[in-house]
Amino acid sequence: MSDKKVRVRFAPSPTGGLHLGGVRTVLFNYLFAKKHKGDFVLRIEDTDQSRYVKGAEEYILECLEWCGLTPDEGPVAGGHYAPYRQSERKSIYREYAERLVGQGHAYYAFDTPEELERNRREIPNFQYGHAYRDTLRNSLSMPLHQVQQLIDAGEPHVIRIKMPDNEHIHFEDMIRGHVSFDTSQSDDKVLLKADGMPTYHLAVVVDDYLMKITHAFRGEEWLPSAPVHLLLWEYLGWKADMPQWAHLPLILKPDGHGKLSKRDGARLGFPVYAMNWFDEKTGDLTPGFRELGFLPEAFLNLLVMLGWNDGTDNEIFTLGELIEKFSIERVNKAGAKFDFEKAKWFNAEWIKRSEGGRLKPDVLKVLREKGVQVKDDDYLLTVINLVKERCMLLPDFYQQSSYFFEQPKEYDLNAVKPKWTDAKTAFFISFTGLLANTEDVLAVDLEQAFKTLAEENGIKAGELMLPFRIMLVGGKYGPHVFDIAALLGKKETISRIEKALAEFTR
Ligand code: GLU
Repeated sequence: MSDKKVRVRFAPSPTGGLHLGGVRTVLFNYLFAKKHKGDFVLRIEDTDQSRYVKGAEEYILECLEWCGLTPDEGPVAGGHYAPYRQSERKSIYREYAERLVGQGHAYYAFDTPEELERNRREIPNFQYGHAYRDTLRNSLSMPLHQVQQLIDAGEPHVIRIKMPDNEHIHFEDMIRGHVSFDTSQSDDKVLLKADGMPTYHLAVVVDDYLMKITHAFRGEEWLPSAPVHLLLWEYLGWKADMPQWAHLPLILKPDGHGKLSKRDGARLGFPVYAMNWFDEKTGDLTPGFRELGFLPEAFLNLLVMLGWNDGTDNEIFTLGELIEKFSIERVNKAGAKFDFEKAKWFNAEWIKRSEGGRLKPDVLKVLREKGVQVKDDDYLLTVINLVKERCMLLPDFYQQSSYFFEQPKEYDLNAVKPKWTDAKTAFFISFTGLLANTEDVLAVDLEQAFKTLAEENGIKAGELMLPFRIMLVGGKYGPHVFDIAALLGKKETISRIEKALAEFTR
């Protein structure tokens, strides 16, 4: 690698919520930048005003913040190459488009949208390119004075690149290796629109150059645009400064057939966006991983594993470890199938491995939203540490921990009533008596006392454990029952046994 400072960019167009593939692109850029002690730039590519969606930029910023992938430069952070929103850089681009016209690599085109539409309708496989450009209204087909007249008269026009006919161009992609294109496949893309705004093709090249971007990692769907970009780098005389490109593999539907889309998520019942996205126009809410209860650490971990591995079987990585281990060469060429069950497994692993203190704010939020009162922080921490390995998604903490804060509202009576006996009632009455006469005790001692008493009463302890759990929890879930009782304390345990006995024997 050259000794230039590494500078990468994430360059989203603010057109809606962020697909998980978009966040993976951010992540790969970020990891590469941090690994090489470089800069991670956020650039908002909003030159297509017709696709601009209100709130989308804020969404992107919030998403990066949630994931902890903070840009070093960008519309909020600022930076030496500001502004970082292309709409605010509008005046920069014309000069380059005109330069290309002057060199004969681009031309003015005066065709109206209606004319183009008619061509598309009437000519099969119409492309504005070498096959037809001479028959259309542009500065290649018209005499110079007429072109000048039209321009002087303020006739709306665009600037198009003149794609060479039958040339082969190629580049080395960091993931895909040698890639080559036949230029006659590509149409003469618009570079500057009639409103003076650049298109993506011109803006991305000009800005990558001006912002001194050294590596550009983007989704595979941009590969067909690469020949246009390559030519622009060459024509503008910047080829030596062209970033190294890597086109990231697609994230595929679970069955491997085609790109994972928003619709697949709706159809199969899992999120495809990073965070909830509300479309003001349609009123549709597209669910996100965040709101479903994914930890950002887990989200990043599952994303990085969609197409990358460190060469071992290890699957769990912190961001710090990823920065150390990541290499773009280890990203697969082939698309990665998305598996929601596996995604949840990552989350469960992360919940299990996280410190109680890390999880506390999230769990508090879950409990508060459900109206559970939490008064004691230390108590909450103990509860989290006790139940976290049973939670896959953050909202699971409600079921797994709310009974530590409030008595069960309902009991799974089917689990106890059919096998209930007077002897069991007698056992629990004696057990409360025993508890009342002891200090709060450790779970192990409680368990010992419970078992000894069961034996004395001639009942198998095993038959009493489930009823005891239902008394304390309400249902057949939760950690070891004596851990629960010990944490609730003797007073609360006695109260729950008494309340439940009344229900069980009714
Ligand atoms: N603005 C493009 C997008 O929305 C960026 C493509 C690129 O990174 O070159 O994905």
